[in-house]
Amino acid sequence: MKNKEVKVKCFKCGNKYLTSQMRYDPTNPKNIVCMSCLDRKSQPSKKQKQEKKPENIRYYCVKCNFKFLRKKSQKITSCPYCGKQGTLTTKTDANSLLKTAGQEFKP
Ligand SMILES: [Zn+2]
Ligand SMILES: [Zn+2]
Repeated sequence: MKNKEVKVKCFKCGNKYLTSQMRYDPTNPKNIVCMSCLDRKSQPSKKQKQEKKPENIRYYCVKCNFKFLRKKSQKITSCPYCGKQGTLTTKTDANSLLKTAGQEFKP
C-alpha cells in the first residue's frame, strides 16, 4: 500500500507542497503559505527602515510660554526655562506655536 502524502496549495504562489512545508500566514491565519513565501515576507522592508528616523517632539510650557524641541526618546517632566514641573504640554496644533517661533530653542 502506497503512503499517500497530502499536498496543500499555497495561498500566495499557488504551488502545492507537503503539509510539513506549509505554515499558517502569521498576518492572516486563515491562509496557508509555503516556507519560501514566508521567507520572502520576513525580510525587512524599506518602510521599516524609514521609521527609525529620530523624531523631535515640540514641547510648550504653559507657565512661561517657553517652547523647545526634544527627541522623542527623551522624557522631559520639567520646563528647562522656569523649572516648573507638570507645566509642559506637547501641543500638536502648530498654528498657535508658529506665531512666536522666533523664541524657539533648537538643540
Ligand atoms: Zn508559496
Ligand atoms: Zn516654563
